[in-house]
Amino acid sequence: MASCKSSIALNSTDRVGSSHPPRVSGEIHVIIGPMFAGKTTSLLRRIRSERNNGRNVAMIKSSKDTRYAIDSVVTHDGVKFPCWALPDLTSFRHNVGEDAYEKLDVIGIDEAQFFEDLYDFCCNAADNDGKTVILSGLDGDYLRRSFGSLLDIIPLADTVTKLTARCEVCGKKAFFTFRKTAATQTELIGGADLYMPVCRPHYVNGQTVVETSRIVLESTNIVHHQTTQLSCLEAAVLQSQ
Ligand SMILES: [Zn+2]
Repeated sequence: MASCKSSIALNSTDRVGSSHPPRVSGEIHVIIGPMFAGKTTSLLRRIRSERNNGRNVAMIKSSKDTRYAIDSVVTHDGVKFPCWALPDLTSFRHNVGEDAYEKLDVIGIDEAQFFEDLYDFCCNAADNDGKTVILSGLDGDYLRRSFGSLLDIIPLADTVTKLTARCEVCGKKAFFTFRKTAATQTELIGGADLYMPVCRPHYVNGQTVVETSRIVLESTNIVHHQTTQLSCLEAAVLQSQ
């Protein structure tokens, strides 16, 4: 796990006699959940609320995610907010500029699971720089494994909110993200074409169907990731319920 090297506290003698006023205490708030749970909507609501209260805000998203727009965070239902699209968080301070960074009160991070330097960035921003960091992202991938380093932030956080979606099959609360294809890479960026939120029973049933279909498709040498395969799998999943 990453360590926050520059957050080592100064000892008491370093603080005594310092001409710098004590910094405002930072905060870290984490919003997690499956896809289609309203995580980005919740993040934007909180960032807007901070801005309306007169605080200086900035939003960051991963440059890997170009689904809806390059320079905006956009919810699944089309609400937009301008943002910095970056390959990593370390470059944020340089990109935004030292003066602008100093003036920032609140930093929002969308799809935080894509940033490998998340831990160090959040640690420094909140502990050393007095920023409020509000981040949203997937806690688990399509196999329900920890996604990226997002869960490493939990011990640093002031609050953690896990949102739920609606199961696309039965309408009950959905906690998991189900991938409708047989593709196996962890990062496969897509929307409702590739993923759906599901409850526990439908996750378990769906995984069984997808795994069976994958074996059959592989044995007949059908190429992966094709649209026809998607709809076949989706139909198979839904019929199995
Ligand atoms: Zn269900």
